[in-house]
Amino acid sequence: MTQPATAKRIPATLIRGDGIGPEIMEATVRVLEAVGAPFEWDEQIAGMAAVDAGGDPIPNAVLESIKKTKLALKGPLTTPIGGGFRSVNVRLREAFNLFANVRPAQTFMPDGRYTDIDLVLIRENLEGMYVGAEHFVPVDGDPHAVAESSSFITRGGCRRIAEFAFDYAVRNGRKKVTIVHKANILKALTGLFLETCLEIGEKYKDRLEIDDKIVDNTAMQLVLNPSQFDVILTTNMFGDILSDEIAGLVGGLGMAPGGNIGHEAALFEAVHGSAPDIAGQGIANPIALMLGAAMMLDHVNEQGKATRIRKTLEKLTDERKGLTGDLGGTATTAEFADTVIANLV
Ligand code: NAD
Repeated sequence: MTQPATAKRIPATLIRGDGIGPEIMEATVRVLEAVGAPFEWDEQIAGMAAVDAGGDPIPNAVLESIKKTKLALKGPLTTPIGGGFRSVNVRLREAFNLFANVRPAQTFMPDGRYTDIDLVLIRENLEGMYVGAEHFVPVDGDPHAVAESSSFITRGGCRRIAEFAFDYAVRNGRKKVTIVHKANILKALTGLFLETCLEIGEKYKDRLEIDDKIVDNTAMQLVLNPSQFDVILTTNMFGDILSDEIAGLVGGLGMAPGGNIGHEAALFEAVHGSAPDIAGQGIANPIALMLGAAMMLDHVNEQGKATRIRKTLEKLTDERKGLTGDLGGTATTAEFADTVIANLV
């Protein structure tokens, strides 16, 4: 289904990415077109492709484009090793104050270990251990005798992510938010996070059940009984670790989308990387990026189109129809996109 000429178009930056990026992005863009997504793409190059072209993995043109569109769909980007390059993904988050990382996880494949997972992890995206203030202290001629890393969390940052998470929960019909922390040990750092989240939570008590859990117990409870969780609200580092654990519960990174959201812009992607081991073979699974694109449709209030994509992917994985190799099928990336388009609900 193509857009009628009169329909409102929404400018959005498109970054195909490195490795398997161009293959899964092509499949995803075709599916977006098939549901009549309103995006008008401003295509930009970042990552290794941009290093090869001009030396910087995030050229100014990319930043300018996102500044204008405030919306982006991004394929995975390879962070060049050495040469003083910081993670391209962290740089993009910082450039646009993308303070919330949203990672939904839902059981897709039948016959897995869990059948009823439907939860969303919301991670603070800019503070905590990720500020990366680290150094070594030399002792007795050993230049690396002691490693020191400092980390900070701000009350303002905690308020911002807590408000975002509670609002998200209410808006999306969620029932419960669990604040995950380590305030028994890191009493200042994650104590402030817990205290501030609980304080903000007071305003939502009539609409949401709010509880809290220590991160180590959460890691175990996720394996023992994941259906007790609905929305998890946590700090940067704990969110990084728990979101990969949660992706593992629902079939791995191939099924995990993510949104990086701020007041200035929003950027949607697959959680996985550029998979150099299978790049160029046309066999990558595009589901995670397609789910990221569905999150982007939700973000621009096109929930109907987002639901069509999600329901179709659910149906195909349920029936094990036309899947790629990582999910036990034999389809290529392009063939899987054909199957999605032919079976759109
Ligand atoms: P990876 O996620 O690229 O790959 C891990 C394993 O999962 C590989 O065996 C790969 O073949 C497989 N895999 C990943 N996505 C798949 C898909 N869609 N279909 C089928 N199999 C898939 O992780 P890595 O190898 O650690 O990282 C490779 C590069 O990606 C690095 O440069 C890293 O910095 C970058 N990276 C980027 C992002 C991002 O842009 N958001 C995220 C993580 C890693």
